[in-house]
Amino acid sequence: MSKRDYYEILGLNRDASEEEIKKAYRKLAMKHHPDRNPDNPGAEDKFKEAKEAYEILSDGQKRAAYDQFGHAGIDPQSGMGGGFGGAGMGGFADAFGGIFDEIFGGHRGGGGGRSNVYRGADLRYNLEISLEQAAHGTETKIRIPTMEVCGSCQGSGAKAGTQPKTCPTCSGSGQVRLQQGFFSIQQTCPKCHGTGRFIPDPCGTCHGAGRIKQHKTLAVKIPAGVDEGDRIRLAGEGEHGVNGGPPGDLYVQIHLKSHPVFQRDHNDLHCEMPISFTTAALGGDIEIPTLDGAAKIKIPSETQSGRVFRLRGKGIKGVRSHTHGDLLCHVVVETPVNLTERQRELLQELEEISRDNDATHNPRARSWMDKVKEFFGQ
Ligand SMILES: [Zn+2]
Ligand SMILES: [Zn+2]
Repeated sequence: MSKRDYYEILGLNRDASEEEIKKAYRKLAMKHHPDRNPDNPGAEDKFKEAKEAYEILSDGQKRAAYDQFGHAGIDPQSGMGGGFGGAGMGGFADAFGGIFDEIFGGHRGGGGGRSNVYRGADLRYNLEISLEQAAHGTETKIRIPTMEVCGSCQGSGAKAGTQPKTCPTCSGSGQVRLQQGFFSIQQTCPKCHGTGRFIPDPCGTCHGAGRIKQHKTLAVKIPAGVDEGDRIRLAGEGEHGVNGGPPGDLYVQIHLKSHPVFQRDHNDLHCEMPISFTTAALGGDIEIPTLDGAAKIKIPSETQSGRVFRLRGKGIKGVRSHTHGDLLCHVVVETPVNLTERQRELLQELEEISRDNDATHNPRARSWMDKVKEFFGQ
């Protein structure tokens, strides 16, 4: 089934601003939200469709990929890069906590009035791995800073024996209305930062934050075939939510270390293969490294610099591909250096006996010389 264009879903032009995208999504989400359409099973699909479109178009990077490559640039099936993995109908407990909070105020909080429940921010961790680890997959541990519930105040932020109070600036709503000219703008309360609470007597350990900075160690499974820039999503390992909101996700972004032998190009590997002047002329077997051990290449006689030998299937099997790439070995004929007297003699002799038949033995050099002569009009 081919997918609908994201802009079409939201009813927008391709040059729509962030604000327009948000607005259009909000309108559709209100209209089609399953909670508002209990008797209309089609609403859920429409809701999901709008949600997906918003998820892509509201993210600058994903939007750029979509604009350039269409749905193929997104690939939500893989669970990589797209960052959808299992989001499904988590409904509110997903990336749009902020928006849903505004639309269905109080829904998640359970109590009356606004709940000021926000999803925590997503985090990114840059992980450098070797080409071998990327090719074969690996498991590694990463240590990340995290905000844990403060043990002294059990997260309330208030000194033992005291209680947080309702914020006097916003009366607990977490939002204040500002009048600017003709416009009235709703803003997060500057005093309580949207929590709706005010702590007169803060906890000494966390200074009222309710959380303290700690580190945690996470095991990360890197699937075989990952490439530069791929992202692995660790659901729920991002920042904590506000007021009991769901945590954000942690994205582990892959960076490949440069390799002494191979350069990677998608699933293919390239390497330079220097061969001696005599092997190039007479032929011979050359042992070359591959990611799964040594392999042999038969160099035919009269091999020239720049020739490429392709070893099928000796590249990398990408995360999204079914076959391995190839290994391409680029021949570089090495001119012998540090010559001994004897070597010099032999080469001199070779030159002398080759000179009369230059066109036969060095056709490229000869034809180039001819062209040069022609150029100078001789
Ligand atoms: Zn406030
Ligand atoms: Zn505390």
